[in-house]
Amino acid sequence: MRRVYFDHSATTPVHPAVAEEMLRFANKTFGNPSSVHFFGREARKAVEEARDKVATAIGARPEEIIFTSGGTESDLMAIKGVVYANRSKGNHIITSAIEHHAVLENCKALEKEGFTVTILPVDPDGMVSPESVADAINDKTILITIMHANNEVGTIQPIQEIGRLAKAKGILFHTDAVQSFGKIPVNVDELMVDFLSISGHKIYAPKGIGALYIRRGVRWAPNSLGGGQERKRRPGTENVMGIAALGKAVEIAVETMSAESARLTLLRDRIIKEIMENYSNVYLNGHPTRRLPNHVNFSFEFIEGEALLLSLDLKGVAASSGSACTSGSLEPSHVLLAMGIPPEVAHGSLRLTLGKDNNDEDVSYFLEVLPPIIERLRAMSPLYHKVSDDCDTCGNTWCR
Ligand code: PLP
Repeated sequence: MRRVYFDHSATTPVHPAVAEEMLRFANKTFGNPSSVHFFGREARKAVEEARDKVATAIGARPEEIIFTSGGTESDLMAIKGVVYANRSKGNHIITSAIEHHAVLENCKALEKEGFTVTILPVDPDGMVSPESVADAINDKTILITIMHANNEVGTIQPIQEIGRLAKAKGILFHTDAVQSFGKIPVNVDELMVDFLSISGHKIYAPKGIGALYIRRGVRWAPNSLGGGQERKRRPGTENVMGIAALGKAVEIAVETMSAESARLTLLRDRIIKEIMENYSNVYLNGHPTRRLPNHVNFSFEFIEGEALLLSLDLKGVAASSGSACTSGSLEPSHVLLAMGIPPEVAHGSLRLTLGKDNNDEDVSYFLEVLPPIIERLRAMSPLYHKVSDDCDTCGNTWCR
């Protein structure tokens, strides 16, 4: 059976050149970067080379990069590191309703410690307005954390405008760039951010490696204590293999980003056009133009997202839905709900996120297997019947 992987926002395969790099560290370069001997020096060299690559890719200085275990840890380190270090200045945090749980859950936990959190709403396209950020700022605000691009709907946020506001008020600004980095240009000075989170497994590096950018000179405190690694900012023996892999993946992303984004945009737009033209009761979620090049998200009315996913999986297509399994029940995505999408429509959402190995044939295959699935699932829905002449009188508001 043909297999089509359309779930690159969940994770990406490891790039063969990255895997090759990792083998070098499994076989030969195994030293501890803190050791003074040859083996240690080789490992240190690899770590610092990778740091240079990450820093250059985002317009930062190497000493502003800390390696972490991934996006979640980077988000946590940025948020807690800022608020604990700046407690004497204030206790107010601003974030948005569409952040990843790595941000939202940490902010909510901080409320229990006496911090106050403003969770900004978004518009129907999933955009945070800079005006709402400006309105939320008060003299106790110490941190603004707004993601660069959303993982569920792909909307790209006006980070630079928010950054300008934050800078004017002297408030530290973090952005979660886990989904945007490697797909669209990310430059810390242009975006005017003080902290930026990156994750390796979204850019063809392995899981369990990431990075946090911390602008030089900002007030921030480490979250854990231990050895002197990462200039005492993130203690623990470095994940040398993961770090080298991240460096290689970043190098490849920088080289290929513009051509790859243009290629994926064409594939993405073909999917959008075909779906929007050929189906009734379907919505494109996220911003129509300010969206990631590889990202689409639709809501199909009268469809259960999980059933859609399973049916696609049986045909070899791997995608994801707008529901998350929380304690055994399927909750509609908090992002779609924040955009004002009714829960029953949010349940029928499908996220397709494309990547380097996808091509036109994959898109054709998906577009070929989808119609009978939608037809079958809708036929099972008691609420759905095809729009017909009766519809003006049937009283079923869902039809229209
Ligand atoms: N932030 C965003 C926007 C994400 O999409 C993800 C992962 O899906 C994370 C953070 C967490 O990253 P990691 O899986 O590397 O911990």
